[in-house]
Amino acid sequence: MQSISILGSTGSVGQSTLRVIAQNPGGFKVVALTANENVVKMLEQCLEFQPETVVMVDGDAAKQLVAQLAKHGLQNISVEIGQQGVVAVARDTASATVMSAIVGAAGLLPTLAAVQAGKRVLIANKEPLVMTGDLFMREAVRCNATILPIDSEHNAIFQCLPEGGETRAVRKIHLTASGGPFRGRKWSELQDITPEQACAHPNWSMGQKISVDSATMMNKGLELIEAAALFSLPQSQVEIVIHPQSIIHSMVEYIDGSFLAQLGAPDMCIPIAHALAWPSRIMSGAETLNITDIARLDFHAPDMENLPCLRLARQAATAGLSAPAILNAANEVAVEAFLQGQIRFTAIAEIVDATLNNVQNRSNDTIDDVLHIDNEARGVALARLESNQF
Ligand code: NAD
Ligand code: MG
Repeated sequence: MQSISILGSTGSVGQSTLRVIAQNPGGFKVVALTANENVVKMLEQCLEFQPETVVMVDGDAAKQLVAQLAKHGLQNISVEIGQQGVVAVARDTASATVMSAIVGAAGLLPTLAAVQAGKRVLIANKEPLVMTGDLFMREAVRCNATILPIDSEHNAIFQCLPEGGETRAVRKIHLTASGGPFRGRKWSELQDITPEQACAHPNWSMGQKISVDSATMMNKGLELIEAAALFSLPQSQVEIVIHPQSIIHSMVEYIDGSFLAQLGAPDMCIPIAHALAWPSRIMSGAETLNITDIARLDFHAPDMENLPCLRLARQAATAGLSAPAILNAANEVAVEAFLQGQIRFTAIAEIVDATLNNVQNRSNDTIDDVLHIDNEARGVALARLESNQF
């Protein structure tokens, strides 16, 4: 039986992870669950999975949860508070596996703690990889951690690479992108897009932040940087291809001309089940794919002129050093402001662009450097959005 802790269990990936675990009784012991503030969802999960420990980052939420657990006779579940609690759970040897499914930079320190504890770490939370790049992967090697990608594209690539992840014979990685809800529309026509419209993805059901990133295509930009870091490849070897059906989740092209692809229904339970069981296989509970129903698969190159966020991400990837961390911080600030109704949809790209131009790109050799740059970039992005009418 595999002992697992889930960071961000109340989110979209966290819930899918528990769904896969529920499909495989006797396979997993849920040691700890963490969330920001969703008491209702956390209580439901405690009733079903009976973890030993729960962390609520928000103090009031933690108090409410304690009261609710007592009401349901679950006083034996220990409730911890705050980010330090999340880091402690990630590090705690009671779990051999950690699912990193927090959204954004908030996942950096807990994910790193799991890596430094030498665990098997399932990584959905892409922002820390974007921020730290090679540094993160070097730490994984140093601490003997096993990194298993959950992001569907990266999981597909992992499945298409030889055991051990050897990439010497890889010519290119082709990351597929659905194009999001506004595929085919001009960026200049998207001024009045609302958060509800941006979050309505045609193929995937996801948390709000990644849904907005998918709508701007910044998500594919972050994934490009994530892929280069995860598989130690130069970003120039990572191509983006628009594939509206979201059936091929990515492809690896080898020097002999062979392409290997992973196909499946667009359901996160599939990559989650793969990583949970790797190197074995378990039931995911996902719908099986009827390939004759799909009948055709389309591919085309992205129109970079019309996708400013993807363009900015490619530029940041090329610039290297701290540029990806600056891009990520500015994007997190801008997406949050958009979701709060403070800025227009198209201002997201303007704020990221301005932040990249106004924070000095420098080396980030330590996690402290990364945190410093992240903080500085957030300040610049915030000042930018406060000083302008977007
Ligand atoms: P979500 O918003 O649905 O869930 C986020 C989780 O993180 C929640 O449990 C929330 O309580 C917790 N959280 C939020 N802020 C926190 C904080 N400051 N400190 C600690 N915990 C906090 O997000 P999601 O869609 O599940 O995405 C999670 C991560 O996985 C993101 O990095 C996303 O890019 C990546 N991802 C998601 C999908 C998907 O289908 N949803 C696919 C691929 C990758
Ligand atoms: Mg993805």
